[in-house]
Amino acid sequence: MHDTIFHKIQRGEIPAQLVYEDAHLFAFRDIAPQAPVHVLFVPKRDYATLNDVPEEDAVVVGRLATAAARYAKAQGFAEDGYRIVMNCNGDGGQTVFQIHLHLLAGAPLGRFGTPG
Ligand code: AMP
Repeated sequence: MHDTIFHKIQRGEIPAQLVYEDAHLFAFRDIAPQAPVHVLFVPKRDYATLNDVPEEDAVVVGRLATAAARYAKAQGFAEDGYRIVMNCNGDGGQTVFQIHLHLLAGAPLGRFGTPG
């Protein structure tokens, strides 16, 4: 099993601002927010990158997205809108190697995908 800062948060070894948890995943505020709302959704199952998620585990990724949407509705910004992002490996800008989904919201967001 690989160990990352998110596993340490899951085990309560380092603090985080938890906003949601269930049997499958947990969510907490990003320490360096890139938008007024920036929450990370992390599965409790271990996958270093999206490349490591087999087809039969697609529901694990699906749950991250639907949990983010539920959170957006509960917090009242679903209609205004939001963005979900998963970074993969070097070119994708991934820095923590346990898969996670970024939820960004709270203001109009710039376009994305520009190199550099
Ligand atoms: P990524 O670059 O897609 O791997 O995203 C990793 C994210 O984790 C970054 O947005 C970091 O700001 C965030 N992060 C790193 N350490 C912590 C922490 N201790 N608590 C909350 N967020 C963190």
